Amino acid sequence: MESSDTLRNKCAACYRQFNKMEHLVEHMRTSYHSVHEPTCGICKKHCRSFESLREHLIGPLPKAECERIFKERGCDLCLTTLSSRNALRGLLYRMANLGIYDDLKIDNSRTKVAALACKMVGGGSDGTLDLCARVSLIDEYENIIFHTYVKPHLPVTNYRYETTGVRPEFLRDAIPLRQASRKIQDFLCNGEPLWKIRSRGGKATILIGHGLDHDLKCLEVEYPAIMIRDTAKYPPLMKTSKLSNSLKYLTKAYLGYDIQTGIQDPYDDCVATMRLYMRMRSQVHKLEDYPLATDPQNRNNFAQWRQSELERMNPEEMLEISRSDFYCWCLDSKESF
Ligand SMILES: [Zn+2]
Ligand SMILES: [Zn+2]
Ligand SMILES: [Zn+2]
Repeated sequence: MESSDTLRNKCAACYRQFNKMEHLVEHMRTSYHSVHEPTCGICKKHCRSFESLREHLIGPLPKAECERIFKERGCDLCLTTLSSRNALRGLLYRMANLGIYDDLKIDNSRTKVAALACKMVGGGSDGTLDLCARVSLIDEYENIIFHTYVKPHLPVTNYRYETTGVRPEFLRDAIPLRQASRKIQDFLCNGEPLWKIRSRGGKATILIGHGLDHDLKCLEVEYPAIMIRDTAKYPPLMKTSKLSNSLKYLTKAYLGYDIQTGIQDPYDDCVATMRLYMRMRSQVHKLEDYPLATDPQNRNNFAQWRQSELERMNPEEMLEISRSDFYCWCLDSKESF
């Protein structure tokens, strides 16, 4: 039996219940619940990641009522619940026709986002040092901007042929690493000096990828974190344990197809990360003036309030002043790029 007191102390986002109001206040101070969290379309529960939303909807221990409705009119890939079965059929039809472009304004202006991926061969005495041998860069319409073999500075000791498909003769006359890096860097910065790229809204390109730290390090390309959208580090796409998912897993789970079977083409990785990014960017979330907990206007939002004032608020009011601790990619679609 739930006492009315415990009901009053129920978090308005994740529905956890607390014996005492002060414990709920403490929970709200540390959980950064927000409108940007993946949310169940049926009971409106907030989840930390799409993986926990998936568990909530399709198991192994789903919430029975949500599972029942979701089975009828939910989409297993994007985890949204449609208003009717017909709406679901419409969605599946659009996706079958690669409706991925539906929400994009196609214009002739230069692309403002690009996805990058590399394939590495082995260097060093034991062949474990990653050396970039192929690189691919695409625009938001999945057109190739740059797709090439790269000749590393160091000797290749393991071509990793089974996965890379790279043979020595492909690299012999390939573009040297330094030249490839330069081209990529120039494309990304788009005429803005690197030190000047401090915020969104400039001329520089948003860079999308999976595990970009490693790719950029191998390419010897420097790029500011504020312009990077990494599917390996985006909280809603991470595991409940806060570890990264593989791109292969994300592509299967959220896009419904297989990549990285046999010889891998970096173009396929670019396409997968770009589609994941577009999916995340097209989420419809409530517009807030200052969406991040770290925005100076929100700093210590909860600390500003006295404990006694917070304890007098109801759970919905507390959720109202709570802000996200990560940058939601839906915000990219609201910027005037
Ligand atoms: Zn909560
Ligand atoms: Zn959002
Ligand atoms: Zn639910």
